[in-house]
Order: sequence, then structure tokens, then C-alpha cells
Amino acid sequence: MKARRFIVIAFLASLSLVLTSPASSGGDYHFNIDSITISETSSADDSTGGIKEDIPAKYLDRYQAWKNEFLATETGHEQWHRYATDPILKLTITLTRDNAEGATTGKYKWSESGQLIAATIVLGNRLDEGYPNPIYFPVMNSLVPTGTANDVTGNTLAATKMAHEFGHVNRTAQVDGALYQLQTQLIPQYNKIFLSNGRNPKDPRLIELAQKIGGTPVEIWEDREYWGETNAMVFLRDRFTEERQLCPIFSRIRSRVDLYAKGYERRFLEIAQSVTAKGTCGW
Ligand SMILES: [Zn+2]
Repeated sequence: MKARRFIVIAFLASLSLVLTSPASSGGDYHFNIDSITISETSSADDSTGGIKEDIPAKYLDRYQAWKNEFLATETGHEQWHRYATDPILKLTITLTRDNAEGATTGKYKWSESGQLIAATIVLGNRLDEGYPNPIYFPVMNSLVPTGTANDVTGNTLAATKMAHEFGHVNRTAQVDGALYQLQTQLIPQYNKIFLSNGRNPKDPRLIELAQKIGGTPVEIWEDREYWGETNAMVFLRDRFTEERQLCPIFSRIRSRVDLYAKGYERRFLEIAQSVTAKGTCGW
């Protein structure tokens, strides 16, 4: 798909500006950037809500282990229950060998009244391996092994990635569906102009487009990613009740946010503060 390639190119172009430190551990978590290039059509039967799990039999065991880990937390359980009983939104979860260590969320569909009625989460079949880069994924990257007893298991890593994807659905269900669809429609135009004008973001046509869609494509993309990451952080907050496990993770998240996502600090800080009330992990 042409538009998808443009977005990846534009994204990589901007990323190369950010990549001034060797801190990246690699891993193109959302290699296809599906959360922006959503499909206009939905493959699921959208007539009723709820969660539809479409998992190949050979991956059922590992999927169940990741899901159990997600459900073992208060936030995972609450969010799963909410979508499972949603009368309108159909959330489809699938598992594939493509993008094995990553996951994507997309295939969004809205009703005529603007309610989100369909979304699909695609999990990689090796979701329990691989650590996305620290720039856009400060929470998932905080789980990179340190060689100590506090390193998390593969199941926890996979469940954290599930939480990130649920975060995308949570956010998309809240935002203005019309704006989301306008972004999807105009971002390819933006990228086309950007790539043909010598990559000049001050081009009046681009400034006008950015005003219409609420930011540049990269700004829109990173805003969505950091919402995914906040949900991943809430999952970790609930998963680790002991300070000696949670505080090193929060401290690593903090340093990554400080370095790469300072403008988005507030949404992470609020989660950190939600535990400081209990006397844990000052941010
Ligand atoms: Zn994401």
C-alpha cells in the first residue's frame, strides 16, 4: 500500500533526527504503523459487540498464558471485562507470524453517530520476546533485561504489549472519530507533499493540513503511541505490588521519558503519582 510506505518513510526521516544517542535497542514494534494507516473496511462481523478471539490453534497455549497474565491485574481484568461486555464495540484479537515480536491495532470502524464499533488487535506470535525502542516506547523498553533477579518474564513482557494495544483502543474509543478519520485521510497527502517539497515542514500547504488534523503526522503518531504506553505503565503498576520490583521499572521509564518524551511527561507522571499515594516509587 503506497500510503503506508510514505508514512514509514516520513517517520523514519524524522526518527533519524531523534536518534542521536545509541540508546535504541532496535525493534520496529509497529513496523507497519497500522495505528495510522487504518483500514477503511472492517473484516469482523460488526453486528454485535464483545471480544472475538481469532487465534490459530497452535498458538493457543502461549496466547492463553499472555492473556492470563494480563487478566491477573486489576486494570487488565477491568478492561477485558469492559470490552467483553460492550454491546456495540466488537474487539477482534488475532495472532500472526508477521511482525512476530510486535503488535498493531487498527481496522477501526465507527457508526454513523460517531461511536467506535470495531477494532482489531494483531499480536505477534513471539510477543514474549523483543523490546521496542526507548524513544517512542519508554514503558515497554523499560523491561529490557538487566541481568538481575528483578527481570520480568516473557509472559509479563507479552502482557505489557497487550496493555499497550488495549491503550490504543481505549484512546480511539474516546477521541473524535471524525477527526481520526480525517487524519487517516489527510496524512498520506501530507506525507506526499512533505516528500516532494524537500521535506520542508514550513510549506504553507503542510501548515494548513497540520492545523486541520491537529498536528504533523509524526506528532499525531507519537501522541497515540504515548497513550498506548501509559496503559502499559498502568498494567505494570498493578502487576508489581512490591517496591523492589516496581521502583526500578518506574525509574527506567522516567529516564526514558526525560530523554525522549519530555513534552508528554505529565501523562506518565500521573500514573507514577497514583502509587506514591501508597508510599511507593517517587517520580
Ligand atoms: Zn502502539
